[in-house]
Amino acid sequence: MAQRVSVSDGGNKKTSRVRVAVRLRPYMGKQDEKGEGPCVRGLDSQNLEIINWRNATETVKYHFDVFHGEQTTQQEVFLSSVKPILSHILNGQNASVFAYGPTGAGKTHTMLGGSEQPGVIPRAVREVFNLVKAKDEDEGWDYSIGMSYLEIYNEKVLDLLSPSSQDLPIREDKDKNILIPGLTHITISSFSDFDKYFVPASLNRTTASTKLNQRSSRSHAILLIKVVRTQRAITHRQQTGKLYLVDLAGSEDNRRTGNHGIRLKESGAINLSLFTLSKVVDSLNSGTAGRVPYRDSKLTRLLQDSLGGSAHSVMITNIAPEYKYYFDTFSALNFAAKSKLIVNKPFTRETVAVPALPVKRAREDHEVGGSGT
Ligand code: ADP
Ligand code: MG
Repeated sequence: MAQRVSVSDGGNKKTSRVRVAVRLRPYMGKQDEKGEGPCVRGLDSQNLEIINWRNATETVKYHFDVFHGEQTTQQEVFLSSVKPILSHILNGQNASVFAYGPTGAGKTHTMLGGSEQPGVIPRAVREVFNLVKAKDEDEGWDYSIGMSYLEIYNEKVLDLLSPSSQDLPIREDKDKNILIPGLTHITISSFSDFDKYFVPASLNRTTASTKLNQRSSRSHAILLIKVVRTQRAITHRQQTGKLYLVDLAGSEDNRRTGNHGIRLKESGAINLSLFTLSKVVDSLNSGTAGRVPYRDSKLTRLLQDSLGGSAHSVMITNIAPEYKYYFDTFSALNFAAKSKLIVNKPFTRETVAVPALPVKRAREDHEVGGSGT
């Protein structure tokens, strides 16, 4: 991935690579627990390493477009990974931002955040309003901003702004735009207008009960911000730009956590959308012009016109440093990157924020910073 030329959109060139960022959340294991410390850590702004489970004297190093360490603020994530793509949706282009990773690794924190530390969604919506406000009247375009909010659960498309609605169909028009007939679309005139609709709908989804929490980790929550601009001249040219902000279902393998019956079926369905997303991202990033399997799941079908092609896409893979996430972290990293390197140097603990015990393997046997290259 490192070697591939990064995609900077010079005009209408066909660009398709998905930018991949990884965000490591702070260590949250209790200090009175085994004191194992983290199993993964950042090396610099693009590289990280994780202990190799096949051989704990080795680490596996990964390279990404961006690595956000545990100290990274919400503002920094927004500025480096999201803000740069927003201007495009005022010019009729599409964009998408995903948070990927296991449940508990920080997807909702990254996308939604809290009132103290707002995440990508509120920052992006504010910024879109600012960008529109800053547009010069003399350019001759009128802008209108709208929102939809939906969930893909069990391969069903559900309208979060109209909770009683049934599974909605995904269609494609003659210009290859993807649309969902019947999905609520609300025109919003300010950020507080947005908040008024968004907050109750997302509270419904995330905090009502344990059951709903489980559901929220099994469903993909998708916020669509649509910017339509119309030229004031007699031609009335119109351009539509779509921004999808997606808090994906947890990437953990539910088969391992002992789910049965309906749960297993649910996670199977979710895995279909996540699995297909992984194939789509691979296919886009490998640069081979093969068929991109958008149609194989609801999620990728919906995102077809906003992922790859001339769209601007960012995937933020959230990972957690504790050992109990180890295999989910490993598979999330493998999903996010095809470029990795096994390094024959030990994992040392120098960067640990909490006073963790040394690994069983004597720390002083090995040099500091054991990453090497
Ligand atoms: P997910 O949505 O992936 O299941 P959450 O966003 O709910 O994970 O995060 C799990 C917990 O970790 C939450 O309590 C959240 O506030 C906290 N958390 C996640 N990322 C960070 C971070 N970067 N800084 C501080 N706390 C975080
Ligand atoms: Mg979440």
